[in-house]
Amino acid sequence: MTTYFSPETARSRAAGAASTPREMARQLACNRREFLRTAAGLALGSTLLGSSAMVRAATTSKKRKVVVITFGGGARDQETFAPEGQENIPHLIGELIPQSAFFTQVVNRGILGHYVATASLATGVYETINNFASLPPEHPTVFEYFRKDLRRPPSDAWVVAPSNGFNRIGESNHASYGGGLGARVILPKHLLTAAMSGASTDYDHLLRDNYETPFYAPELGGREFELQQLEMMLKLSVDDFKAHARTLSSPDELSVYIARQLMRQVAPSLLWITMHDIDIAHAGAYSLYIDGIRRTDRLCAELWKAIQTEPEYAGNTTLFILPDFGRDSDDDSGGNGFQHHRTGDALSRTTWMMVLGAGVRPGVVFDRPMESTDLVPTIGSMLDFSAALAQGKPIAELL
Ligand SMILES: [Zn+2]
Repeated sequence: MTTYFSPETARSRAAGAASTPREMARQLACNRREFLRTAAGLALGSTLLGSSAMVRAATTSKKRKVVVITFGGGARDQETFAPEGQENIPHLIGELIPQSAFFTQVVNRGILGHYVATASLATGVYETINNFASLPPEHPTVFEYFRKDLRRPPSDAWVVAPSNGFNRIGESNHASYGGGLGARVILPKHLLTAAMSGASTDYDHLLRDNYETPFYAPELGGREFELQQLEMMLKLSVDDFKAHARTLSSPDELSVYIARQLMRQVAPSLLWITMHDIDIAHAGAYSLYIDGIRRTDRLCAELWKAIQTEPEYAGNTTLFILPDFGRDSDDDSGGNGFQHHRTGDALSRTTWMMVLGAGVRPGVVFDRPMESTDLVPTIGSMLDFSAALAQGKPIAELL
């Protein structure tokens, strides 16, 4: 039994009076805020509104860049930001939070499947496409808005995706967009499979494609990265790639390795990296789920460090880190706790977001509710393009 919920919540449950989802979400946010204030000594955002213009003026004149990391695969508060979970995220707590604007209450009202939820984050609309089909989002992606409005080349928007099932995420089928306006999508596992060019068991730990439907293997179409571009674009020989991959412990490590090559060699202005290791929780082993959280925590810090050390990114990049969604609570009889995200309860829908870097006032906590669909309009306001068809609203505290 977790100690995370307030006594009031526990009492109302014991009395059989279930809290509303809105009340539950508010409670989760309050707990995060209290924890963050005591752990990191952060200020409440409402007293500091209006200060970001000062920060923006101090940023460099280099072309603004945005990197999005989805803390992906579904992680709950009690294994992350709740007091009993903090030991699993030492890098977020100790290094990143003090430098970030932190939003305690990001609610996902959409379908809780990883591909469709990540596509929803990327369009600013709750997509309803089949999570396990090779389909593009139905609404324009952030990549299309960015490239069309700002007339950017294909090389300026990239996605590094964890599963071959994400191969269509870079571009919608919307009539006014799509059509070559999207992001290039790198599928590191697809790349590794191609690099092996034959059967090998050396990389099995890196090639597991998803944790929910092991037998789903989409036909790859669209604009996936071609193997020859490994050498041409990433300046990485197939042999070096294979040798390095052999030292990596997980698919997310492989994704971060590829993302770092991409930053160094191509330096896209809009880069989206989706993590997924945490979702191994579906296998039912709590220790593997925790390992996934700890690894994601470390990889987020590594990417932030890379942003600060790559000349093309240092000083002019805003980094967003947010989960696609959470996982089921232990006490919802319709679920099986951490293992899945099937109940749609408040714990699985209420997440957080941290924003670091250019234009961001660090060390501030914002407690008001926002939605997953607010991400794309916010990036639009930052980079000066219009997310015309997105449902969400720009986050005023970041602009
Ligand atoms: Zn999952």
